[in-house]
Amino acid sequence: MRNGGSGIIIKYPDGKEVSGTLSEIEGKLKKAKAVAVRVNGGLQDLSQLGHLGDEVSLETVTFDSPEGKEIYRHSTSHIMAHAVKTLFPKAKLAIGPATVEGFYYDFDLDRPLTPEDIEHIEKKMGEIINENRPFNRRVISKTEAERFFKDAGEEYKVELLKEITDESVSVYEEGGFMDLCRGPHVPSTGTVRAFKLLSIAGAYWRGDEKNKMLQRIYGTAFDREKDLKEYLSFLEEVKKRDHRKLGRELDLFSINDEIGAGLILWHPNGALIRKTIEDFWRNEHLKADYSLLYTPHIAKLDLWNRSGHLDFYRENMYSPMEIEGVDYEIKPMNCPFHISIYKSSLKSYRELPVRYAELGTVYRYERSGTLHGLLRVRGFTQDDAHIFCREDQIEDEILNILDFTLFILKTFGFDSYDVYLSTRPEGYVGNLENWDRATNALIQAMEKKGLTYEIDPGAGVFYGPKIDIKVKDSLGRAWQCSTIQVDFNNPERFDVGFRGSDGKEHRPIMIHRALMGSLERFFGILVEHYAGAFPVWLSPVQVAVLTIAERHANHASAVAERLKSEGIRTVLNIDNEKIGHKIREATIRKIPYLGIIGDREVAETRISVRKRSGEDLGAMTEDALMTRLKEDITRRR
Ligand SMILES: [Zn+2]
Ligand SMILES: [Zn+2]
Repeated sequence: MRNGGSGIIIKYPDGKEVSGTLSEIEGKLKKAKAVAVRVNGGLQDLSQLGHLGDEVSLETVTFDSPEGKEIYRHSTSHIMAHAVKTLFPKAKLAIGPATVEGFYYDFDLDRPLTPEDIEHIEKKMGEIINENRPFNRRVISKTEAERFFKDAGEEYKVELLKEITDESVSVYEEGGFMDLCRGPHVPSTGTVRAFKLLSIAGAYWRGDEKNKMLQRIYGTAFDREKDLKEYLSFLEEVKKRDHRKLGRELDLFSINDEIGAGLILWHPNGALIRKTIEDFWRNEHLKADYSLLYTPHIAKLDLWNRSGHLDFYRENMYSPMEIEGVDYEIKPMNCPFHISIYKSSLKSYRELPVRYAELGTVYRYERSGTLHGLLRVRGFTQDDAHIFCREDQIEDEILNILDFTLFILKTFGFDSYDVYLSTRPEGYVGNLENWDRATNALIQAMEKKGLTYEIDPGAGVFYGPKIDIKVKDSLGRAWQCSTIQVDFNNPERFDVGFRGSDGKEHRPIMIHRALMGSLERFFGILVEHYAGAFPVWLSPVQVAVLTIAERHANHASAVAERLKSEGIRTVLNIDNEKIGHKIREATIRKIPYLGIIGDREVAETRISVRKRSGEDLGAMTEDALMTRLKEDITRRR
């Protein structure tokens, strides 16, 4: 944009040029629903247009872009703080950023907020939006800002100001409410078209549990009412599927404070599903030429020194325990054990690749505030494997693992995923040449497989680069599950070798991989993905046999016995209750098939079969029901 004379020329990044006066340009930006502008690469308020120099490039920022959403939602958090300040004049303000899906603001209040308070705050926000006051930016000296916020009793803002090294700071004011902020913001409060406050939570000032607990209000905002409505119904669906809620209702698992935070108790229903997953996992690994291992839960501390975990991973490890004067450590990883088994005999080049797999239980320290149901825990079982191969085998092995991973994920109904390549982090071990070779091997394999991937710079593990796969669940949410990591380093550290065709000692390459990640987390994802309605092959109970009246009990028992003897997980309900009640109860338990037996069924030696969805499959013979169930199970449906 050239700011010469009366005319302005905007040069858009795509090369297009538009000319006009300042007010004409402002009109155009308004029409384009701009929430801010990008000037020479930096984001600015629309109101700063008048202060532009010569020859600048200008880009419209709308709600449709990630930055636009952030500005829009962060501006809404100002409006929320304004409303809170109006209703609770003594409230002290902390911070109010945008999040990926909305915004929050932390407040220090003298009493806990109630749902009614939230309604009042929303109403007040609506009024502020209707007034459509402009967001005014002012740059003032840091001293002046400090004086202002100190006089206003805003101690958190004063603390934030102390950390700013600049001489001057920007403040934004709308409708008499002023906040310390870098900006930019939407032009006026009326820009915000649809918003909703969602929840209240406790949050420590600066996330530090030593500080005061503040009250955080979460909300979100959209530029169309329709999109807000859609998002709110998505949130409803997420709430319905919450694995902690379904875990209780379906009696799958629990976490008990007497046992400890982040430690999972698998109840019979959950344990049966886990066993089914484990059986499938082990069988498929044997078919894919893996050997299965079991290794101990503790090992000498020295082992973790040698593996580099003590240097790079200490904050996630528990304190050592002393046994006969030697320090032992509960394992955060399975790798060194597998290395030890590999090294227990001499290997020749002909024996490679060696593939070891273990459902290995590990323990890692996670801060209590970050624990979340099954998704973030302290003790978990990795579906771990380590592959030792020659350098000429690495690409094939990665291709193999990719195929295997996608097959396993597909079995659980995940056929859409995001793939990431994580490259060398700042803290790393090994030489750069090895890092490059490993990274290239991963790239080659992904390209051969035709996988599109994104690069996650610096997110690799300390010993090597990795491929991460995030699966998309039935609500379109992405979950990190699979990881494939190339490692040139541990073979060096542990002096792992093989005898080459030249008769000399060589170093194998090690690949660490987990397909589901951990059984706990994967199970939590599955509960939400299926909304608790597990496919037949995974369901703890596969069929419920229900009687209409007491006189049908003998016949029903015989049917149930036959199903059980064929390995079908069956429950029988011959209680003296109405059939409608029995059907409801079995449906709530999300049992896939209900077999109903009454007079006609006894007379015709048939069973009336319905699905938990309510779909009526009509009357069928025992054999027909059995075939149907067995087919579902073998096809993993
Ligand atoms: Zn702001
Ligand atoms: Zn490993």
